[in-house]
Amino acid sequence: ATPTSIMVGTGRGAELGVLFRKGEALQLLKDAKVVAVDKTGTLTEGRPALTDLQIEPGMERARVLALVAAVEAKSEHPIARAIVEAAEAEGLTLPLVSAFESVTGRGVTATVDGEAVQIGSDRYMGELGLDVGVFAAAAGRMGDEGKTPLYAAIGGRLAAIIAVADPIKASTPAAIAALHGLGLKVAMITGDNRRTAAAIARQLGIDEVVAEVLPDGKVEAVRRLKGEHGRVAFVGDGINDAPALAESDVGLAVGNGTDIAIEAADVVLMSGSLKGVATAIALSRATIGNIR
Ligand code: ADP
Ligand code: MG
Repeated sequence: ATPTSIMVGTGRGAELGVLFRKGEALQLLKDAKVVAVDKTGTLTEGRPALTDLQIEPGMERARVLALVAAVEAKSEHPIARAIVEAAEAEGLTLPLVSAFESVTGRGVTATVDGEAVQIGSDRYMGELGLDVGVFAAAAGRMGDEGKTPLYAAIGGRLAAIIAVADPIKASTPAAIAALHGLGLKVAMITGDNRRTAAAIARQLGIDEVVAEVLPDGKVEAVRRLKGEHGRVAFVGDGINDAPALAESDVGLAVGNGTDIAIEAADVVLMSGSLKGVATAIALSRATIGNIR
């Protein structure tokens, strides 16, 4: 490609809401084999809502929700906001929290009303030595519905299973169809529960799922996809996506994403939707030629 064609392609991209921060991205995208996509905030709205709260016998619902929401009020995770909003909707007063800590990729812990409170994944509960087996059927059903099951422990005892659901963006199904139309494979990489991720992938016709990855695992997943398929484009929005954006051959950040993701990306999708990925690839093929 000539410098002029790169300039023309970059300018055309800008008109279409696809900002090429590096001319190299325009050259590389045409040969992408796989588009790997973060789930939360990229495929989905990134605004989960609480859908289920099932309490263990002997525990009081309002108290469990108040303690859990009090802890989550200290967390920045989208899941946390869903839980706090649910408690607020019920008019609950949130008690004071001390010793708050977030446990990366697992959940949160703090002391409330003199009791240890933990909220997080089944992996986290396992690490705390708690068996979530009593909720196995509920968790399986929630996961199959595309909801994320979480657990709450109070005073070292399993207290509840909570589910949150994050709606798929209206623009996502057409964006995936467009990528398939261009002959690409679409993979999902997520920290979320395996069954939840599989349910969402099934709904969207996504070809490959890597779930329950810890933040470092996204980089490893990208590296593996590169080894297996060839050139990989990664699309994400979050702070935790920055390393995978850098590791991929072409990193694309959705425009409503965090500054750190945008900084790490080669391409910014101003529409905030995944549709821009197919646009960017089509533009690369048209500009650089060599459509195979
Ligand atoms: P993702 O953003 O892809 O879901 P994260 O690494 O942020 O990945 O989170 C992985 C999992 O850790 C979540 O699905 C959830 O089970 C648990 N988790 C993380 N933060 C919280 C939180 N504040 N409250 C409850 N669970 C959490
Ligand atoms: Mg995300």
